[in-house]
Amino acid sequence: MQPVARPLAPTYQERRWELPPDAVVHHGTVDDAVRVLAGRTITALTGAGVSTDSGIPDYRGPDSPPRNPMTYEQFVSDEDFRRHYWARNHVGWQHVRRTHPNAGHRALARLEERGVVHGVITQNVDLLHEEAGSRNVIDLHGRYDRVVCLQCGRVISRAHLAERLDALNPGFLKSVLQGGTTVADVEIAPDADAVVEQTSHFRPAPCEFCGGVLKPEIVYFGENVPRERVERAYAMVDAADALLVAGSSLTVMSGLRFVRHAAKREKPIVIVNRGETRGDPLATVKVDAGVTETLTELVERL
Ligand SMILES: [Zn+2]
Repeated sequence: MQPVARPLAPTYQERRWELPPDAVVHHGTVDDAVRVLAGRTITALTGAGVSTDSGIPDYRGPDSPPRNPMTYEQFVSDEDFRRHYWARNHVGWQHVRRTHPNAGHRALARLEERGVVHGVITQNVDLLHEEAGSRNVIDLHGRYDRVVCLQCGRVISRAHLAERLDALNPGFLKSVLQGGTTVADVEIAPDADAVVEQTSHFRPAPCEFCGGVLKPEIVYFGENVPRERVERAYAMVDAADALLVAGSSLTVMSGLRFVRHAAKREKPIVIVNRGETRGDPLATVKVDAGVTETLTELVERL
């Protein structure tokens, strides 16, 4: 059986945590969130839930099927796996390229413009915050539009790599996309493995400078967020009065640690997410509601 790659949801993880039975969560409404955030500067921490309304699904959502994440180890050690990964990624990355920011992204950009939001730390790799106009953004888990060589460290654009992959695999895209399969199906559908058998002859591109292995500039499981980036994110949390978490279940420690950091410094924390999050017991107010509509309301009232 071929492994299944999750090119654009590298931090997907089956939920393996439970809140302790005695955890106290302060559930509240948007009114409560406004009371906590009013007059304060805010750093936002965002996850997949911010981008679902842009057509990028949240694999960690309550209805998502359990899957195993692709690990860094798999990627670097298994050539067949990489071939399959790049074949799928070659089809799928174009879906993200065609997505657009939604009202939630725009709300955070407007709040930054007004000096309310200090900056955004995002776990998403889709660059939709930047496209919406946010300026002070930390792409914690990397960005989908860049590719890095694991040997020489050079970074190239994903668009440039696409040209090389097309040249190495003439007719591949066309053959995959015929018969009604769309780019979105391949990338997004939980069972898009109809494509798998077509990937066995796919030729991934080596680094054009040194022949090394190329990898999307995205942080995978088993891989750490670069230290310097983590430090900048902590500093971004420190620089604002409050932390607003939007659209993340905080399943992975790479996001949860900033909530813990803010709590330790006794900063007010507002969490907006549909469904439980691992940070709920640390929240001053937890708003269990849609991210887009809640951010849209906040921008009117802050
Ligand atoms: Zn190289």
